[in-house]
Amino acid sequence: MEVDYTDTIKDAVAKFETAYIRHHLKACHHSRTKTANALGISRTALFQKMRRYKIGGMEKKEPIGSVYTRCISCGCTVELKASEVGHVINCINCATKLNSNPRKS
Ligand SMILES: [Zn+2]
Repeated sequence: MEVDYTDTIKDAVAKFETAYIRHHLKACHHSRTKTANALGISRTALFQKMRRYKIGGMEKKEPIGSVYTRCISCGCTVELKASEVGHVINCINCATKLNSNPRKS
C-alpha cells in the first residue's frame, strides 16, 4: 500500500484501516470473529469500521443484472439495479409497488 502524503491524516488512516481490515478478513476467510481477534478489537468495533469504510457489502454485491424479483401483481420478472435492492420499486409493466425481495435468477 502506497502512502499518499497529500492526504489528510484522516484519509490516510481510513485507507490504511481499509487495507488492513481487508487483508485480515481474507486471511481469516471472512470470519469476523477471527478477524476481530487478529486486529485486537471487539467484533462490534470491527463491524463499525467495516460499515464506515463500506467493507464487506462491497465484495458480496451482485453484479448489475443478476438480481431479480417477481411482480406480485402481473407476475413479470423485474430486474433490480444494485441501488434498488432492498428498496421499494415499481414494476416496469404495471407499476405495482414491489418490496424487493431479491433472489438469484
Ligand atoms: Zn407487474
